[in-house]
Amino acid sequence: MEDFQSLFAKQKQFFYSNKTKSISFRIQALEKLKAAIKKYESKLIDALKADLNKSAFDTYTTEIGIVYKEISFMKDHIKQWRKPEKVQTPLTHIGTKSIIYAEPYGSTLVIAPWNYPFQLAVAPMIGAIAAGNCVVLKPSELTPTTSDVLRQLVSETFSEEYVSVVEGAVETSQALLEIPFDYIFFTGSTSVGRIVMEQAAKHLTPVTLELGGKSPCIVDEDAHVKLAAKRIAWGKFTNAGQTCVAPDYVYVNRRIKKEFLEELKRAITDLYGENPIQNTNYTHIVNDKHFNRLRSFLDRDNIAYGGEVDSVSLVIEPTVLTGINWDDKVMEDEIFGPILPVLDFDDVDEIIHVINSHPKPLALYLFSENSDVQQQVISSISFGGGCINDTIYHLSSPYLPFGGVGASGMGAYHGKASFDTFSHKKSIMKQTNKFDIPLRYPNLKNGLRKI
Ligand code: NAD
Repeated sequence: MEDFQSLFAKQKQFFYSNKTKSISFRIQALEKLKAAIKKYESKLIDALKADLNKSAFDTYTTEIGIVYKEISFMKDHIKQWRKPEKVQTPLTHIGTKSIIYAEPYGSTLVIAPWNYPFQLAVAPMIGAIAAGNCVVLKPSELTPTTSDVLRQLVSETFSEEYVSVVEGAVETSQALLEIPFDYIFFTGSTSVGRIVMEQAAKHLTPVTLELGGKSPCIVDEDAHVKLAAKRIAWGKFTNAGQTCVAPDYVYVNRRIKKEFLEELKRAITDLYGENPIQNTNYTHIVNDKHFNRLRSFLDRDNIAYGGEVDSVSLVIEPTVLTGINWDDKVMEDEIFGPILPVLDFDDVDEIIHVINSHPKPLALYLFSENSDVQQQVISSISFGGGCINDTIYHLSSPYLPFGGVGASGMGAYHGKASFDTFSHKKSIMKQTNKFDIPLRYPNLKNGLRKI
């Protein structure tokens, strides 16, 4: 705790030196970060293999590559985003100029989860740096090899008064939350999100909460079934379903259910082979606790595909469940694993009602060619974001703010949204001294008065 206080004090002091505010400093920091990641690429690939058995391909595409893209995007745009924005002045304010300045908050805290332990730690950090802040980053203790590499990479690249990695578990996180940081960016579960917000409230620290929840996937009768199955299988089983925006369950129109299930099985086999348990490129479940939680959802009667597990290597085969309803345990909370319940429906109206009676999802995916249905779903269900005719791909566009709503989170990031998240908008009105409009003063006659 003492150490965190002094780290925070050092960061505050560094921040008030104004160094982080210059655009050239920020661009240089992003370039240094990119060079350091390049240098550590193979160590990161090994670390993610050790922590989650992530394949080099998955690590590159979903952890490292996405971060490079974000760095380049920031570098190309921060000059423009940082420019003071001149806005209109109402008639009552004649003679004044109105300007909005994007200013960094100061020392920011980023708390990260384990499922994409590199990307979800570094992407918010990029936003904080681009906006001119100092950062304390707390990676997840459940992926210790990656956390350790991250700590080495950051400490070799930045001084601790600018960017620092603090490793540790829940107690460390709790101790950090006692410090009056200027901003907290948290990614993790909804339950811990509540704790973070409660702690932040004590210091009135603003927060972004990137949380989870059950993200639905709807496949209507006019969908391109083969493509839908392929894109759903990919979005669900990448990282063994341990993705915050993975489709949690599928609602398929009863008229195409049989065809969809056949295509889904084919898509899984195409992606992971006949025996995914033996596939050395298939991600493991992070630990025994999560493995046992997921295994408890597997009931022989409901398994339409898959269901094999290996409790030594913590692997669960991509599994499809049918005959599921909302009373089943698997429908209580976010599954966060390679188990996909497929439910059916007759009419989109009925599922809109069902989804709206549950907490607001982080993502929603609709497979339909019908633009009326597309519009109906977008306008009648509140959710963080999503895709029409695809899954999870929306989060890799720097032009789309990414975040949840309600129980799935608050605030957003990626691209400009990251810059905005980590910037306070300071509004300044510059008054003229050439004249003084007396309207606002009591006991003065109307009209312009020379001073
Ligand atoms: P988690 O909430 O258990 O942990 C996240 C972080 O919070 C970790 O660094 C952990 O050390 C810390 N933490 C845990 N308990 C704490 C406590 N009591 N007080 C303070 N800090 C605490 O989440 P997780 O298991 O690492 O990640 C899985 C969850 O995160 C899922 O719900 C998933 O949907 C969500 N998630 C959301 C996003 C998103 O972008 N919205 C991305 C990835 C994961």
